[in-house]
Amino acid sequence: MDRWWQGAADLVLGACCPLCEAPGGRVCRRCAASLPPEPVHVAAGDLEVVAAGVHAGPRRDAVLAWKLRAASGLDPLLAHHLAAAVLTLVGDAEAVTLVPVPSTRRSRRERGRDLVADLAVAAARDLTGIGLHGSARRCLRLVRQTADQHALGREERALNLARSMRATALPTGPVVVVDDIVTTGSTVREAVRALASRGDVEVLGAAALVVAEQGGPAVAGHPVDGLRSR
Ligand SMILES: [Zn+2]
Repeated sequence: MDRWWQGAADLVLGACCPLCEAPGGRVCRRCAASLPPEPVHVAAGDLEVVAAGVHAGPRRDAVLAWKLRAASGLDPLLAHHLAAAVLTLVGDAEAVTLVPVPSTRRSRRERGRDLVADLAVAAARDLTGIGLHGSARRCLRLVRQTADQHALGREERALNLARSMRATALPTGPVVVVDDIVTTGSTVREAVRALASRGDVEVLGAAALVVAEQGGPAVAGHPVDGLRSR
């Protein structure tokens, strides 16, 4: 549903939980309780990647609602999930900078905002709230067009993304690269390559909301408008 229409409908009908019919514009307590973060570690070469859960069942529904409908009512819950994934990577660090993978111009236009960047800001705020100095910095940008990732295999994804990003600045201190969905790890690995090519940077790993199920349905297997990985 278009955002303007959703806003108008909320005014007339009352805002609902984005995952059920409960009143209120945010995720209701019942839905939140049914979706706790369940961090899973993912092999992505020598990069440590942690996702807050597997892209299946209600968690998949929540991520797709957030990604395809830009349902901002899901932001607090998903930011909490991302923060939980980041926490498993930081060890004794007292501060961490979250670096979101860059989104395409098309994605920002379609969704009206940069979903992953917004998520990074909210997750950094959550981390600060529990005593870790969290910040978010958009210091990566795309330097060329890439094809939609969802129909590509592992090697094709890596080729599609190779040298597609550039770091415009380098954060100081420990860094965690963040994304929403990790499939093969190609995107977060390209982000780390772009950061490292600019200078010394302490990358603790990458964190995501979900990891695609091995052998499961395609991450992008949603019929609405062809989910892109960014
Ligand atoms: Zn609900």
